[in-house]
Amino acid sequence: MNRQQAVLPRIDDFLARSVVSWQLLHGRHDLPWQNTRDPYRVWLSEVMLQQTQVATVLTYFDRFLRRFPTVTALAQATLDEVLGLWTGLGYYSRARNLHRCAQQVVQEHAGSFPTSAQQLQGLSGIGPSTAAAIASLCFGERVAILDGNAKRVLTRYLGFAHDLSVAVNERLLWQQAQALLPVNDVTQAMPRYTQGMMDLGATLCTAKNPACQRCPLQARCVAAETSSPQDFPVKTRRIKRSDESIWLLWASDAAGAVWLQQRPTPGVWAGLYCFALFETEHDLRQAVPQPYQAHISCLPALKHVLTHKDMYLHLCKVVLPNGCQPAAPGAWFSPSQWPGLGLPAPVHKWLQKS
Ligand code: SF4
Repeated sequence: MNRQQAVLPRIDDFLARSVVSWQLLHGRHDLPWQNTRDPYRVWLSEVMLQQTQVATVLTYFDRFLRRFPTVTALAQATLDEVLGLWTGLGYYSRARNLHRCAQQVVQEHAGSFPTSAQQLQGLSGIGPSTAAAIASLCFGERVAILDGNAKRVLTRYLGFAHDLSVAVNERLLWQQAQALLPVNDVTQAMPRYTQGMMDLGATLCTAKNPACQRCPLQARCVAAETSSPQDFPVKTRRIKRSDESIWLLWASDAAGAVWLQQRPTPGVWAGLYCFALFETEHDLRQAVPQPYQAHISCLPALKHVLTHKDMYLHLCKVVLPNGCQPAAPGAWFSPSQWPGLGLPAPVHKWLQKS
């Protein structure tokens, strides 16, 4: 496709009509954040679903709603409690933004979410696609989402072969997405259309082996016609990855309490409670009172994959007698206290297994 073709949006209502009718008959209707126009539930689900599978989110969503049934309840909680409930979901900046956003809604919007995508984008952690999802699903605004699922469906349908790692191309796709939205009965059609794009990308137009035979867009889909769905979307720039090794001191006392420190912000695991963390094994050993250094036992390094880096975690264990503690910031937390804290996923797993 040349640039001139790409700049001009392909405007027809086939896509919008097909997606809306398909969603009604074949889309997903049973997820707990569907069949509602409550922006609190939709926002919570959208944030949780970023980078996380539906099956995992289901448990967390339910637990969150039971503890924080309203945005006001969430705003009044401590960040520690929010991080504690988030433990295991990963990407903890989402939880910190979630808490900040709830406080903004309460303090700046009298406890009600703004109703337009533009205003929603002024809130912490709400980007253009999440704002569009909330505004279209809850308030029927004619605004396009462009999450991973929607990008896959649209680039394939349009044969959009421009590299989406280039910002100008992503804006171009967004223009096309906007031009293809429903034009009739918008308030009713938009929630179904937005949900339909999400459902299509999640169930038929999947990254591998898309089910084109069952897709309502097949008749006019460029990628299906050219048997090339796997060529879309085009994204060439890879995230530059680095790696880092850290040493974690798992110090416990005779009663089973563990020594945990809250990680500084910003930084890896910011705000979470973690074993005392060191850059070298030497530093770790120095933090253990001399008579007990000989009792330290270290496990083989565990690779922990984050978005931008691989972390090699070296876990070293030691049991200290009462009245003795590591020379590192932190405090003792009993077996009844640490489960309520926000913990990095590997630390949570180790402690659960102990
Ligand atoms: Fe995706 Fe195939 Fe549907 Fe095209 S026809 S949108 S490639 S599932």
